[in-house]
Amino acid sequence: MNVHRKIPPSTRTSLFFILALAALGLAACTKPTPPADAAPTHAPETPEAPTEAPAAKEAPAFVCDDDIDTSELTPEQQALADKLWDQTLTYLRGFTTALETSKLCLDSPLAMIQTNDGKSDDPQARCVSRYRDVELMVKHVNWVLDNPALARQCFDVQKNYEAFPLYTPTEAMKQASDVAAWIDRPTLDEYHADKEGKVGEAGRDLVQNFEAILKNTNSTAFVDVDMTYQGLPDLWTAVGWLPFYAENPKAINERFRGGYAYAEVMGPWGLLRIKEIEGELVGAEIGMTIQVESFYPYHFHHSQELYMNIGKSSCPNQNTFMVMHWDNPSFTQARTDEGWDVAIDKGKGKHRKATWFRPTSPSDPNEWIAYYERNAIHATKVGGKCGEGNAPSGFAQVWARTSSRDNNQTTKICTPVGKDGNPLEGVTKVTETDPVVCNLEDWKP
Ligand code: ZN
Repeated sequence: MNVHRKIPPSTRTSLFFILALAALGLAACTKPTPPADAAPTHAPETPEAPTEAPAAKEAPAFVCDDDIDTSELTPEQQALADKLWDQTLTYLRGFTTALETSKLCLDSPLAMIQTNDGKSDDPQARCVSRYRDVELMVKHVNWVLDNPALARQCFDVQKNYEAFPLYTPTEAMKQASDVAAWIDRPTLDEYHADKEGKVGEAGRDLVQNFEAILKNTNSTAFVDVDMTYQGLPDLWTAVGWLPFYAENPKAINERFRGGYAYAEVMGPWGLLRIKEIEGELVGAEIGMTIQVESFYPYHFHHSQELYMNIGKSSCPNQNTFMVMHWDNPSFTQARTDEGWDVAIDKGKGKHRKATWFRPTSPSDPNEWIAYYERNAIHATKVGGKCGEGNAPSGFAQVWARTSSRDNNQTTKICTPVGKDGNPLEGVTKVTETDPVVCNLEDWKP
């Protein structure tokens, strides 16, 4: 599925992202934060070793991004920042614990890596810690969890964040969280209030159901940590949300464009912005997404991606997703100067009846986690209300990228094409069976 960086600009939001990237680029060349042996501002959480014990292993050196806000906080503000930090650590602990807990593999979960392998039409899965990028991400997040006082220097509640605007979902949620009320971001309520057309309509549907969707979640089915809104209400409310596609027509489906948002807890644009630990680039980018009933069109990107499906379904097949490798035999690939053009046409031939979309469920060991390789083509279909009870339509997920600091992070949506294979202009609706072409770029070492 999802998130979604930098579709080429035509909007103010995109411009903000470019400025953010420029700032990060500059940051890479300028002075790092103090080395780990500089006095941390917070007392270490581990007890002091007895004096006769051998010297403790030296703590890893953390380098923060250069845009961490170091403004002085009052004791009251510090207490609120501490609360958000604690919930951030709990979220990260749940995340790595889930990745290190035996689930169908001996040492890690079995993640779905293709919903259809293009040969047998079966899904394909792999023990997720066999991927080197996942292994590194887990190592880096565990360094954070083992050295919270050092990592804390790279934490910023993003109250004064200037790269681009960040939002709290609704005014009601803001008032219910003392942390969110203090940070006082603008709300998605306000953002979508006067947006026109179907994008605005979907945006208002999103904010009206935001909290109910966040409550219709479960993580304890797969990890012994409540990572959801119920367990971490301040984090889910006060983290900076982005209506990422609302102003971007390249995402095509207007219902999806308004009805989608994501937030980043750790990563280059998140609350915890660590550039390096022990000289290793920290590619981990960990956050959350939300989507109302809509189709997130086929898309792809360089960074590998990982989803934990915490959103509960009210009936089978309410929420389904698709991920298939770009070189899957079900697609048609053509080499270009700088990559591959991958043509997708599910409405034709043998694919018409093939199962490309599979359900997600936090409580099914085969469905709760998925991993997307580089340039894997993926899509998400969130269905309407179904089943008994009054559960809302809509879907929240734990989301991560593993290599957020190299190559192009842009999420590109595949382009609708006509029967002649040429791009169609001005399309505002695309389904899973409409033909599209995905213009992949080579990864550059
Ligand atoms: Zn994605």
